[in-house]
Amino acid sequence: MRFEDTLARFGGDEFTVLLEDVESPQEAVRVAERIVESLKVPFVVDGREFFVRTSIGVSLGTSRTKSPQEILRDADTAMYRAKDEAADYRVFDSDMHERVLGRLELENDLWRALEREEFRLFYQPKVRLKEEDTVAEIEALLRWQHPQRGLVMPDEFIPIAEETGLIVPIGRWVLKEACRQVKEWQDRYPKAPPLVACVNVAAGQLRYPDLLNDVGSALWESGIEGRSLALEITESALLKDMQTSTTLLEELRREGIRFALDDFGSEYSSLSYLMRLPVDFVKIDKSFVWDLGEDPRAAILVEAIISLAHSLGLEAVGEGVESAEQLEYLRRMGCDLVQGYHLARPVPPEDMPVFLAK
Ligand code: C2E
Ligand code: MG
Ligand code: MG
Repeated sequence: MRFEDTLARFGGDEFTVLLEDVESPQEAVRVAERIVESLKVPFVVDGREFFVRTSIGVSLGTSRTKSPQEILRDADTAMYRAKDEAADYRVFDSDMHERVLGRLELENDLWRALEREEFRLFYQPKVRLKEEDTVAEIEALLRWQHPQRGLVMPDEFIPIAEETGLIVPIGRWVLKEACRQVKEWQDRYPKAPPLVACVNVAAGQLRYPDLLNDVGSALWESGIEGRSLALEITESALLKDMQTSTTLLEELRREGIRFALDDFGSEYSSLSYLMRLPVDFVKIDKSFVWDLGEDPRAAILVEAIISLAHSLGLEAVGEGVESAEQLEYLRRMGCDLVQGYHLARPVPPEDMPVFLAK
């Protein structure tokens, strides 16, 4: 740093550098690059080398254009952008501000969405291939009927719900509503074994004992049995806290609840976890299913995942099936269940009886 600059620890692992008399953004960027360079040198602690990753947010302003608080806020926004994009640094621009505002607004609305009953569940059938293609399971997919924005898809608000912890009460509602709805269909369209409700569970919901309690009350209030409920969880969610996840899964399993490893193939696809985690289904990620018939390697991979699942005593589910050709591939490979637009899109509950009556 130059003599007139200030370096301060802001809190935790965040540091602030105040550069005065900066002529141009390029000058600030050069300093950011120098800081990143010098932090690339490993630190030696107890004879071992440690590396730190640095993300820098740059914000420019004068005492006339921005208050100190605004400069800090904007630097923080740019820093998070740098982190998200795995970049060394990012310079704040007003677009970022707009996006942050949009996000804040969404976050505020999300707080009220539960009270205002703006959430809805859509349902997508999963078909069992060996049993004359009957609907065996139904996945509940969350939608947000926003008063101004219309139907908001989960990818747009679940990450925010996770960050704010709102995922817990939202997930509680999803469990309750999905179990209630599927019980109604079980009674109206009885079959053996009864229809299974599949509910997605995010990392933030894997908390002990909240998830146990929430699942327990959803079963109790709806009257469906544990074996009629399957939870879909991604590998990364389970691996965030392996100990808690395993305990939770084992306790829930005692109620007869089953588990699907969602989006398998898109993340770690660790075979050792597949063996150790108490899961029942492997959902082969859409991206592989889409490549069936296009890329011969996809067929090899999908077939390998299916036979691996079978040899571990698990069932394989093909998701994102969009064509007859993909369906035929999966059928030939011995895939147990399939799901996708080719069979049925996710629909509001009132449209589901068409599939169930078939
Ligand atoms: P997911 O659990 O992997 O769900 C499958 C997604 O693929 C759904 O998107 C579904 O609409 C879509 N899909 C199904 N078949 C096809 C197909 O043939 N082609 C294509 N292109 N897409 C297909 P959706 O509903 O937007 O949900 C996205 C993700 O949001 C879900 O991925 C899940 O991770 C999460 N999610 C949805 N509902 C909930 C919920 O109630 N709780 C939690 N925690 N997460 C949820
Ligand atoms: Mg799912
Ligand atoms: Mg999936």
